[in-house]
Amino acid sequence: MESTLRRTWAEVNLDAIAHNYKRIKERIGEDVKFLGVVKADAYGHGSVQVSQLLEDVGADYLAVSSADEALELRVNGIHMPILILGHTPKEQVGRLIEYNITQAITCKAKADEYSAEAVKCGGTLKVHIKVDTGMSRLGYLCDNGHFDTGVEGIVEACELPGLCAEGIFTHFAVADEYGEACDAYTRHQYALFTEVIEAVEKKRGVKFAIRHCANTGAVARFPETYLDMVRPGLLLYGYGEFAHQLGLRPAMTMKTTVSTIKIYPKGTAISYGGVFVTDKTTRIGVLPYGYADGFLRSLSNRCSLYTKEGPAKLRGKICMDMCMIDITDMMTVDVGSEVEIFGEKNSIDTLAELAGTIPYELTCAVSKRVPRVYYRNGAVIDKELMLRM
Ligand SMILES: *Cc1c(COP(=O)(O)O)cnc(C)c1O
Repeated sequence: MESTLRRTWAEVNLDAIAHNYKRIKERIGEDVKFLGVVKADAYGHGSVQVSQLLEDVGADYLAVSSADEALELRVNGIHMPILILGHTPKEQVGRLIEYNITQAITCKAKADEYSAEAVKCGGTLKVHIKVDTGMSRLGYLCDNGHFDTGVEGIVEACELPGLCAEGIFTHFAVADEYGEACDAYTRHQYALFTEVIEAVEKKRGVKFAIRHCANTGAVARFPETYLDMVRPGLLLYGYGEFAHQLGLRPAMTMKTTVSTIKIYPKGTAISYGGVFVTDKTTRIGVLPYGYADGFLRSLSNRCSLYTKEGPAKLRGKICMDMCMIDITDMMTVDVGSEVEIFGEKNSIDTLAELAGTIPYELTCAVSKRVPRVYYRNGAVIDKELMLRM
């Protein structure tokens, strides 16, 4: 059943993602593979649709955070290689092998577990070894006196029965931040990563097929780190200053409509807590868009949303299902008028900054209540159901 309400929806422009892919590909060159990070439902954009697009345009690999996310892609007909970046319970190893899904190996305990399970299933699990070079999250610790034990652990994992070490990777902590200290940190992480690879390859006499580390910040700022494959997420979706610098386009436009208009006299407190009080006769538009849709309540009373007459100030606290804008001087904005929450006109980067967060959090926050409408070649190709019936 199609939504008849035209309440609030997210337009996902797959053409923008195709454009961004092409531009990033031009930047990295023919010989470097492209892994599209589609974890967290492709940062809220819809991982099945984004993965189909990436498969169409010829990307090489996908990455997700869990076995559930990987299987969702497989059951929806995605054939590309998929890497699970996070933890998978060992009980799932048989399914990973069956569905040809690659698993990150992050420590000895997991390598042993996955190996034993793969042997039990009589199959081979494709793995990428994760090296902790300074992110201090997952991976074989190789810094600060841990180099030899780290390398040994990795060699041991690569030689385990039932595992095939196709790749090795690390993750940068501050590649997207400016300043000498951050640049030095990234360069140190990269140098350590390549030293680890060299040591492991020398001990084993086998080279890794795919070495990768470049996230969005590194794709934009550290071309020397591309190795065999890059691994951008945010850049692919076209947000943040690097996307802007590289001429990329934001993929998601969040839209709502004015549901009700009210005129209040001077001195009226608007919404919970009365944090905004009108200082003159004020025309207020009520929008069916609240924090249950993914609007961050911290933006209450401090951002603008974009109407056909330009930016309208948000007034008062954001509610669960609604928020209010000031359209006093915007007489053509009427009930039913579209309002852009973020997109081409109202940059998500500005909203993120006002909320004291990053654009990632805003697209990931778009909730399941908001139907996504997909555009390809300028036309709607897919619409999610408003109600799951
Ligand atoms: C999320 C993630 C990425 C992508 O990060 P962006 O900043 O969006 O480019 C790359 N690698 C790993 C391991 C990740 O977890």
